[in-house]
Amino acid sequence: METVSLQSFESLGLSKPILKAIASEGYDTPTPIQAGAIPPALEGRDVLGGAQTGTGKTAAFALPLIDRLTSVPTDRPRRGTVAPRALILSPTRELATQIAESAQAYARHTKLRGCTIYGGVSQHNQVKKLRAGVDIIVATPGRLMDLMNQGYVDLGCIEILVLDEADRMLDMGFINPIRKIAAQIPEERQTLMFSATMPPPIAKLARTLLRDPVRVDIAPSETRALRIEQSLHMVDQPQKADLLERMLQEPSVERAIVFTRTKHGAENLSKRLVRGGVFAESIHGDRSQNQRRRALDAFRAGRTRVLVATDVAARGIDVDGVTHVFNFHLPNEPEAYVHRIGRTGRAGAAGIAVSFCDRGERSLLKAIERHTGQKLAPGKAPTGTTARPSAPIEREPQEFAEPKPTQSRRKPPAQAKHRAGKPAPEQAAFGAPTRANKKKKSPHPLQGADRVTSKPGDRPATKKKRRRKGTFNTRGTAAAPKSSPRAAR
Ligand code: AMP
Repeated sequence: METVSLQSFESLGLSKPILKAIASEGYDTPTPIQAGAIPPALEGRDVLGGAQTGTGKTAAFALPLIDRLTSVPTDRPRRGTVAPRALILSPTRELATQIAESAQAYARHTKLRGCTIYGGVSQHNQVKKLRAGVDIIVATPGRLMDLMNQGYVDLGCIEILVLDEADRMLDMGFINPIRKIAAQIPEERQTLMFSATMPPPIAKLARTLLRDPVRVDIAPSETRALRIEQSLHMVDQPQKADLLERMLQEPSVERAIVFTRTKHGAENLSKRLVRGGVFAESIHGDRSQNQRRRALDAFRAGRTRVLVATDVAARGIDVDGVTHVFNFHLPNEPEAYVHRIGRTGRAGAAGIAVSFCDRGERSLLKAIERHTGQKLAPGKAPTGTTARPSAPIEREPQEFAEPKPTQSRRKPPAQAKHRAGKPAPEQAAFGAPTRANKKKKSPHPLQGADRVTSKPGDRPATKKKRRRKGTFNTRGTAAAPKSSPRAAR
């Protein structure tokens, strides 16, 4: 593995328009995956990146991609208006939308144009944008194949192919579409592939799609690297909703994602929370694309404080300022636990992950603890509410790191506190975060956690709230630099 040690985006070799956009985003220092992947990607090398959402991987591939498109003149004949030069494949429409928004922000000082292609909505607008001409396509494989089969997309001019969350794309059965799509792209291309895990099928796919890639990995102990405080509540299923409601009343819960195992569970729970006065919405596979987007927008804007989600629907959600993740049900796969809690503690902010485990979920808990190499500490029952505390259930004795012999099964000590405590004022618990309690953005949490750059003191600076301007389909707002930015370097 190649080793690099870099302190600033300037030293990575990015061109001026990109550096300007990064500065507007408030990024100061590259995250480990960015420091490792950007220099070889700028040189035109293929990159195989081992990194999950929350590590800054979107910028790790989007920045060099935009830089190369603006600075390396194309030698391919351009057909029609503008033939696409870069293709980014993503497993879900939510992730595709987020990648496109990030790419749009990073390309704001260029003339590059892009579009987002995904299923579940009419293809009309997507076809219209393709016809008008785009440089970058961000797409989910299914809809892209569809449009290719109808003759709307020609990938013959693609110079850069990105596969984001490759492991998830394989899990979702996209292996054949990916192979078919790649077969339509000229072999003389650059390929960047990112994956949270590297199981044998991913390694095999990488061998067939990438040429002599630079491998960039960040430390696999993601959960420890992220500044996330994790805790566990052993609680019977019927009491979970009650406990959750009480925990959501804590004023510290400014923005929370609650994970359920099923679509049905997500829907029912969000309805119950709404009945209890919590501004909650659900996103899951039974909701339409528009409903999901509206729910996500409301959550992002702070109009909805709690998002109840299934794993698939929440995949890749990039919302800043998520203070809490609640695992209402433990996930069936331990990897999903890591993905879930990665929704909080993003971009440097400290996060809190609370897991509920009932008797039937003990084996799932064990699998999670084996996977993360960490024992989840018993969490404190909420204070300051009048709601009835749920009856605690014990873990099997050997599962407890430090059992609390003083805790009675019938009446936990916290109960007295609950009764005495006042309910949290509605506005504090449910309202949008106030200026005072809004957390100041801190450096990216994974800085220094990496095997590539590993400089423990290095932390990127704060990131300003990004102005999201809808989807990546607009023209650049400023003129492109007259001379090649690379030449200016
Ligand atoms: P990603 O892993 O691409 O989903 O990025 C996770 C979050 O980190 C996003 O909110 C990014 O805007 C933010 N981010 C990416 N790179 C940096 C950086 N160098 N410094 C601070 N925040 C960053």
